[in-house]
Amino acid sequence: MSKTYNTEIISVGTELLLGHVTNTDARDVSELLSKIGINVLYHTVVGDNPQRLEDCVKIARERADIIITTGGLGPTCDDLTKEILARAFDAKLVEDKREMDTLYDYINLGKKLTDNNFRQALLPEGCTVFHNTAGTAPGCAFEKDGKVVVMLPGPPKECRIMLEKSAIPYLRQLSDEKIVSHTINIFGIGESAVDDIFAGEMNAMTNPSMAPYAKECDCLLKVTAKAHTEAEAEEMLRPVMAEVQEKLGEVVYGVDVDCIEQSVLKLLREKNMTFAAAESCTGGLIAKRITDVPGASLVFMGGVVSYTDTVKHRVLGVPAEMLEEYGAVSAPVARAMAEGARKATTADLAVSVTGVAGPDRDERGNAVGTVFIGFSTPEETVAERFDFGEKSRAEIRALSAEEAFKLLEEKLKEA
Ligand code: ATP
Repeated sequence: MSKTYNTEIISVGTELLLGHVTNTDARDVSELLSKIGINVLYHTVVGDNPQRLEDCVKIARERADIIITTGGLGPTCDDLTKEILARAFDAKLVEDKREMDTLYDYINLGKKLTDNNFRQALLPEGCTVFHNTAGTAPGCAFEKDGKVVVMLPGPPKECRIMLEKSAIPYLRQLSDEKIVSHTINIFGIGESAVDDIFAGEMNAMTNPSMAPYAKECDCLLKVTAKAHTEAEAEEMLRPVMAEVQEKLGEVVYGVDVDCIEQSVLKLLREKNMTFAAAESCTGGLIAKRITDVPGASLVFMGGVVSYTDTVKHRVLGVPAEMLEEYGAVSAPVARAMAEGARKATTADLAVSVTGVAGPDRDERGNAVGTVFIGFSTPEETVAERFDFGEKSRAEIRALSAEEAFKLLEEKLKEA
């Protein structure tokens, strides 16, 4: 029988406590650990203070099998994680030759290093060294007294790369079980609704297990199975996945797709097409979301934040009489915006959003949550009306962007 590993993440950094920096490292570690089925039970944040860090380590070793630290590995005086963890586990710090060579390579490249930099090459004796390919401070992992300690650097990019390249493979080999997860992407109902539908099943299930996760506007249901082989785990997942998808029906928009914009990007690439956006109430949210996805430049021509009638008219070419007659929040204007964006950018397709995000009705009396989403190709230009109801500005904007991506996805699948 395989052991279950419980984990505590200790993020070190006074800047985190002061609210200057968001603890994205802990989020990334949790996210990737959950993918390999390792439970994270605690997130702890502590300042750059040796005594308090030592106290946290004492508590963590009582209640977790794996302790993962982020931050405090660099050369500055307050970078104390390694010293404290080594002391707590009675491990000697010794010079690592490869890391010393890396530092000398830096000097040979003409970079200035201080004596403190050389402290980075001191690592717990016998540890597995995680070379830092995105910075200089190495991370490491060791096992002592039945506990596993993993230390990762603070800068998010360094932390994420080291996690993916070194820490996850290291942690994966602790267990002789194979863990396979699939994610069902849901749009249109929230985490609590999903929770309601599956509460009975979720409480009763242990392997496979199932858990919903809320994202900004949609929701994920993650189904995970553990078995001796991946094939066995897949076999266990198959009936559960089928049953869940059948029960949820059309609110499922994909399986194992990270987000709808990624699916749109993939479809556009497959069809060798580009798109553009004309955004009023979403204020650039569609552009932001698509450009968050690597590779967006291949499919996204650009966008126009046409917040005022002047920009709708002068940049997108929406006729002034149309704006006058129907008002900015209307199907004809949504169509004209989409068509204008498509023509202005020479994209193959365009979407547009115009609506009332609130808190008040617009001057024509359209209720908060009234949104028109337009779509334009050289062959057709259409618009759909949505009534999102009295939600917050943020929710209406997020839902509008999501629906625009959904419409784009639908049309691309049809094309
Ligand atoms: P360095 O080599 O840069 O000193 P380090 O491992 O010592 O790396 P820190 O000095 O603790 O890391 O943090 C470096 C920077 O990384 C911080 O200023 C902060 O912007 C960012 N950072 C640190 N911890 C986190 C975290 N948990 N989440 C997100 N960002 C973080």
